[in-house]
Amino acid sequence: MAASIYPKYPPDLTKAQFDHLITSIKDYSIAHGLAVRPQPSFVPPESDPAGVLATTAPVTLFPSLFPRACFDEAKAIQKAYNELYASIANDEEWLKDIVEELAEVDDFIAKLWKVHLAVKEEGYTQDLSLGLFRSDYLVHVEPSNPSAKPEVKQVEFNTIASSFGGLSEKVGDLHRYLYNTSCYPPTPSSSSGTASNLINTSSLTPNHTISSLSSGLAAAHDHYGPSKTSNQKCIIFLVQDPERNVFDQRPLEYTLQVTHSIPTFRVPFSSILLNTSIDNTHSSRPLLYTPPHSPESVYEVSVVYFRAGYALSDYPDETAWTARHQVERSCAIKCPTILTHLAGSKKIQQVLATPSSPHLSRFLKDPAVADRVHQTFTNIYPIDDTNAGREARAIATDEGKSNGYVLKPQREGGGNNIYRAAIPKFLKSLPESHWKGYILMELIEPPAQENAILRNGEVQRGQIIGELGIYGACLWRKGENSPTLLENEEAGQLLRTKGRESEEGGVAAGFGSVDSCLLI
Ligand code: ADP
Ligand code: MG
Ligand code: MG
Repeated sequence: MAASIYPKYPPDLTKAQFDHLITSIKDYSIAHGLAVRPQPSFVPPESDPAGVLATTAPVTLFPSLFPRACFDEAKAIQKAYNELYASIANDEEWLKDIVEELAEVDDFIAKLWKVHLAVKEEGYTQDLSLGLFRSDYLVHVEPSNPSAKPEVKQVEFNTIASSFGGLSEKVGDLHRYLYNTSCYPPTPSSSSGTASNLINTSSLTPNHTISSLSSGLAAAHDHYGPSKTSNQKCIIFLVQDPERNVFDQRPLEYTLQVTHSIPTFRVPFSSILLNTSIDNTHSSRPLLYTPPHSPESVYEVSVVYFRAGYALSDYPDETAWTARHQVERSCAIKCPTILTHLAGSKKIQQVLATPSSPHLSRFLKDPAVADRVHQTFTNIYPIDDTNAGREARAIATDEGKSNGYVLKPQREGGGNNIYRAAIPKFLKSLPESHWKGYILMELIEPPAQENAILRNGEVQRGQIIGELGIYGACLWRKGENSPTLLENEEAGQLLRTKGRESEEGGVAAGFGSVDSCLLI
């Protein structure tokens, strides 16, 4: 474990202070929709047949410490990251070789690629794409030089269903409320106790994810132009059903409805073919949506926002692929297109991170910008027949050496990775020809710190790890050599915090919590 670079934190609480803090969090959370539908293990479905119950989202009692310079750098480079991934999605020639190689061993990637090729053959009718991205980081301190400045190192870049924008803004507001209502005792920033409090108005981080992500969707809606079918335009959110994390998504829908006056509807991924159709009387293939609760009103879909469709379980049969194909071939603006979805593969991240590779400079023309982005990469290896791939095989098949690594397939949504000593056994259970579908990544081990998490009414205290996510909103028009960026914004942040002993940090998956940064 990396040594701590942080002061003693969080402050100790008396029983009265603790009880008051917990009551304040519970009430604030429900009053402000900082909530989730309960896990079946917490509230068995038979105890809530009407499905009306919600519970507080797992949150940290205190905002977690985060180095200000790291936070500022991650925010500052988000627009460059947006441009990078828009440019990758725009460059099919470059993507093709990488994706086709993966498709040989990965059926999910193969099917996505097949949908793209089918639409390409027919001809895409929409040249605008929307990305609501999230670049995730951990703080890294060089183990051989503990006095070196901490840096952010990228865990991954998400191009589909980047979640928690709704809850992350609210947890920042919660922590600010707790500070403003004196729920936090004074926290001296030095052991002598004389310096100013660690928690203060300038160390708590403002956040604007809900308005920024909704503005991205609204900008795409506007750029779509007038309805082609004389039906009113709408945005649809493609969602999983059931969805425990619905209160993360709803604030974006409500903002689109209330602030932007855009009709917005939720469509379960499994109901695409039931509720939508393509109007074949127009050569541009508009996507029509008929609300099942109001079948007489038909809308033309301007933007399809995927909050589903990234997991194998979303595609139980071929009909689901027909549905994905229907959306892709329509002229609705996709968030994301299949090319943008594929650009977010872990393999692409590995290719970009290849030492002294020309790839980054292909997409980011300013060498200083490319260099700043490059600084956030950690070592990632292919597991193939290249020199780097052979080096990776030696590590990944040796239990001692694999301890500092994580093995990742081309999947999203948590729970898919293989960690440390489990890697050799896992790899050996696969035919060697399939190893190239995985990447091997050095584990980033952030400095130790403590906090407490409130989950399902119980408080878990201990060593924690916080993963910073920076959102980006980017709308671009396909271009011959490079995309034309119509919108490019940094769109706020997320801190997800998990117990140090847990390998994965998924909040919805039940390991993590939502948090906000206390800058030091
Ligand atoms: P997913 O797309 O499924 O979220 P991630 O690459 O984000 O996949 O991995 C899931 C989790 O595994 C991360 O949130 C983080 O907690 C942990 N993890 C992944 N890569 C690393 C790494 N290089 N160092 C430390 N932890 C990692
Ligand atoms: Mg991901
Ligand atoms: Mg992740």
